[in-house]
Amino acid sequence: MSFFGMLFSGLGSIISSAVDIVSEVVSTVTSIFSSRKIEPKTVYQERNRKQDQIHDLNAEVLRLRERYVDVGYLSDAEKRRLRILNERRQELKSGIDEQRQVIAADTFLQNEALINKVEIDLETTHVLQWNAFADTLGKTCPKCARVMKLQWSRDLEQVRPNDFFWGCTGWYFIDKNIRLCNYRERLTKQDYSLLTDTSAPEFSLTADEFTTIIQDEDTSKLITERMDDLQSDLKSRSEGINIVCCPIHAEPMVLQKKKNGVGLLDQYYLRCKHWKPDNKGCTYIEKLKSGSQLAALLKNKTGNGLL
Ligand SMILES: [Zn+2]
Ligand SMILES: [Zn+2]
Repeated sequence: MSFFGMLFSGLGSIISSAVDIVSEVVSTVTSIFSSRKIEPKTVYQERNRKQDQIHDLNAEVLRLRERYVDVGYLSDAEKRRLRILNERRQELKSGIDEQRQVIAADTFLQNEALINKVEIDLETTHVLQWNAFADTLGKTCPKCARVMKLQWSRDLEQVRPNDFFWGCTGWYFIDKNIRLCNYRERLTKQDYSLLTDTSAPEFSLTADEFTTIIQDEDTSKLITERMDDLQSDLKSRSEGINIVCCPIHAEPMVLQKKKNGVGLLDQYYLRCKHWKPDNKGCTYIEKLKSGSQLAALLKNKTGNGLL
């Protein structure tokens, strides 16, 4: 179970909320912060520092792996080094995880006045999708202990509440043509209630109305322009998306655009910083396959969603 025993998303929402009252969460988080003497401001700095460290470490691990692939063996010294690096990475990752939870909880506190309870039904599936691409903390696979992620089939025109499932992120990692884990789980009744910032104008529409709006050609063009701007802006600053990290490398994902995407919802995706052509690097990606995910990303990075 996670630090707070809650499924805080990177955006500061709580998925699977057993509590109804925002102030209850606020007082729980505040008392944990004060009893553990947690200063959210220093936690942000600490998280960034650890992410820099893990970046260098990941690069070294990948260099050793590449060398192994090239020459077919590693020296004893290299094997030892790899073991040390892997152990150190686990330490850094659990530190970063804990800091991300504090940051998510702090985001929740900052937005207290805007947070409401939403029960997911046919009209509000976009609210759940808004949170789906962000790191969900505390939900791990019972088969392999990797992080699980909220998923649904990308082919669906209209996503209904029952179409969501938890999918293990091991699915994205392939070894000798075999996916490392394909565990899936249905959502529990509790997973359909969340405490989230409902101030975004997108949430005053039903899921259906929202889908209709983003299917409009002019709107779609406008969103594409904004996404392209964001992508080149992030690229020029070599900046990733802090709210979504690779489950292996624990670094912010990088916004990418497909070359031959068909339509707005087949264009953008996030990939690991350690991606390399020909499956040589990390294969973890997150598709941005709903208007809600694009909106959440734009709102997080630019302050404005789609509407
Ligand atoms: Zn798994
Ligand atoms: Zn990765």
